Amino acid sequence: MTDAINTPEQSAKTLSEQFAAQVENQAPVLSKTRVVAVANQKGGVGKTTTVINLAACLAYLHKKVLIIDLDPQANATSGVGLPPQQNTSLYRALLGETSIVTLIQNTPYQDLDIIPSELDLAGSEVYVARQDNYLHCFNTALAPLLVTDSYDIIIVDCPPSLGILTMNALTAAHSILIPIQCEYYALEGLSVIARLVQQLRDSGANPLLDIEGIVMTMFDGRTNLSDQVVDEVRKHFESRVYNTIIPRNVRLSEAPSFGKPVIHYDWYSTGAKAYMLFAQEFAARIDALAGRNSG
Ligand code: ATP
Ligand code: MG
Repeated sequence: MTDAINTPEQSAKTLSEQFAAQVENQAPVLSKTRVVAVANQKGGVGKTTTVINLAACLAYLHKKVLIIDLDPQANATSGVGLPPQQNTSLYRALLGETSIVTLIQNTPYQDLDIIPSELDLAGSEVYVARQDNYLHCFNTALAPLLVTDSYDIIIVDCPPSLGILTMNALTAAHSILIPIQCEYYALEGLSVIARLVQQLRDSGANPLLDIEGIVMTMFDGRTNLSDQVVDEVRKHFESRVYNTIIPRNVRLSEAPSFGKPVIHYDWYSTGAKAYMLFAQEFAARIDALAGRNSG
């Protein structure tokens, strides 16, 4: 039990010890579903915007997609048009009180489902922390869904912290997708996440955790700063950075208040075009990976 994993500065040793203590009895589940956690401990960098719009574009491209909203702010939930409802979040599945499968809801969009969030998820951190193997609660909850192969991709929207919910997501996910805002301190946050991924691998908590990629968001073509930040991130992380860059676009910020992904709000906007291109790039990498694994 701990509340000590919520600061990025936490020592690698302590964190590794906590993970290592929980590795036993965690058999990997064989599934064609790829679980991608969208995470960055920095707030407001475009995590939820990326989750909603990547998911909607992938569904449009005929992938079967499930969003799991793991952020008590529930922005991904409202962003696909669902009202907040009590007792619908992952909370009870995390505590083993219900099956994750019963929590899945349809969205108005074909091939796009969601497990919504609501405020009770904030309280769940305390209860999850009291469980044995508290870092693996999400992993355990997810297993019965993964064996059904119902989805091509599960996209998890993480809250802006490295608390218990995010750590659970990273312990269960195949990969982490990191949105980075094109701003001055972008690289600093990135190195914290890269270290954390390494710790999760080294400790055995999630030995195969991959960096799915880094997507640069809120690019402002009028400033040199945006260009400089992209160059700098590319220099350090090379091919991990997606070619597609998401521009700052007012339609992207308006769409959530209509409860719509941007492609269903304004198909012709630059935001819609950017996320569609990004989804194609994302899908191509995942398809290539699936081909390699099956071949
Ligand atoms: P949090 O850490 O609070 O969960 P987040 O990382 O999920 O935040 P978002 O909620 O996606 O970030 O975005 C933060 C704000 O920036 C929102 O108001 C969103 O509408 C806006 N925003 C995100 N991406 C863009 C963009 N490309 N262009 C314009 N506005 C954007
Ligand atoms: Mg968010």
